[in-house]
Amino acid sequence: MTHPFLDLTPLSAARFAAIEDRVARLLGTRQDVVIMQGEALLPLEGAIRGTAGPGTTALNVITGPYGQTFGDWLRDCGATVIDLAVPFHTAVTADQIRDAFAEHPEIDFVSLVHAEAATGNTNPVAEIGEVVREHGALFYLDAVASIGAEPVLPDAWGVDLCVIGAQKAMGGPAGVSAVSVSERAWARMAANPRAPRRSYLSLLDWKARWIDGGRTALLHAPAQLEMLALEACVERIEADGLEAVMGRHRAAALATRAGAVALGGGLEPYVYEERDAAPVATTLRVPAGVVASEVVARALAADPALPLAAGGGALAKEMVRVNHYGVDATAGAVRGSLAALGAALAGLGLDVEVEGALRVVDGGGWR
Ligand SMILES: *Cc1c(COP(=O)(O)O)cnc(C)c1O
Repeated sequence: MTHPFLDLTPLSAARFAAIEDRVARLLGTRQDVVIMQGEALLPLEGAIRGTAGPGTTALNVITGPYGQTFGDWLRDCGATVIDLAVPFHTAVTADQIRDAFAEHPEIDFVSLVHAEAATGNTNPVAEIGEVVREHGALFYLDAVASIGAEPVLPDAWGVDLCVIGAQKAMGGPAGVSAVSVSERAWARMAANPRAPRRSYLSLLDWKARWIDGGRTALLHAPAQLEMLALEACVERIEADGLEAVMGRHRAAALATRAGAVALGGGLEPYVYEERDAAPVATTLRVPAGVVASEVVARALAADPALPLAAGGGALAKEMVRVNHYGVDATAGAVRGSLAALGAALAGLGLDVEVEGALRVVDGGGWR
């Protein structure tokens, strides 16, 4: 019996290269794009281990949980790490980056998360990129949560290592990811004796055995199911138009933010300023005396399909996440989420205006 997932023919090198080219077009980059056969943490870790070592001084910007992880990897590589932690209700500014360089001119690596699905903020990468370039540091960016939801332009912004995954706004699979690599980043890796070689974490292996060979022979059998799904999701974005896909995410974020305010019940946008709020997901703060994970549990009991989650770790008490990305970047998902949160808050004795919130959502800039 035939089955859509089974008995697949092997994916050819030419098809693999064509999918890489499509991802490069999505990023508007002329840099090399390497597709990695794993969830986005694979290139995120591979890029740090490839470029950082005992001689590295890294400015690690922490605007959410991933920044913590990058700092741990950098320290593990022997780098000197300067952590710049920013409260989760805001974004980092280019001036803060400038100040860090003024205080530590030896910084030669900057790691930054573009948008944080986990904390709901987004950082001004274009402005930060200018500062990083002025100082000649290598610029590493986690764009997993921003790609598809807002512009990601590694070349224009001077990003040397830009990592994406398909599982958020692209609406694709979690099992493949990609990284664009600048010439400077390749040179840094080639000069790094500690860069992984002959390893699954190695980007240099892909450079030596795939890119430099003209992309004719793959290093190993590609994960064909994930590669086909990645191809399909990029194809769908091309068909819908990247602008339209980003527009849906922006509309979902604005409607969730404004709808939550209209809902009342003490619910507030977690990220204070709208310009710092990520289009990919909206975080909300519950009123004092209410536990966010309980509100979410009540809302999900009414409709388990809603894109709702409580914040991770200690944030589970105070933060509700509305993950309006991918297939959920719609008025319907936002409506359903706010209605369910409203019912949950009402069940806890709070005063809410569900009809008013839904009117705000319906009046949003949907296309
Ligand atoms: C989702 C996400 C990732 C990927 O990590 P998972 O926990 O596997 O989803 C990486 N970085 C950022 C900023 C993300 O939002």
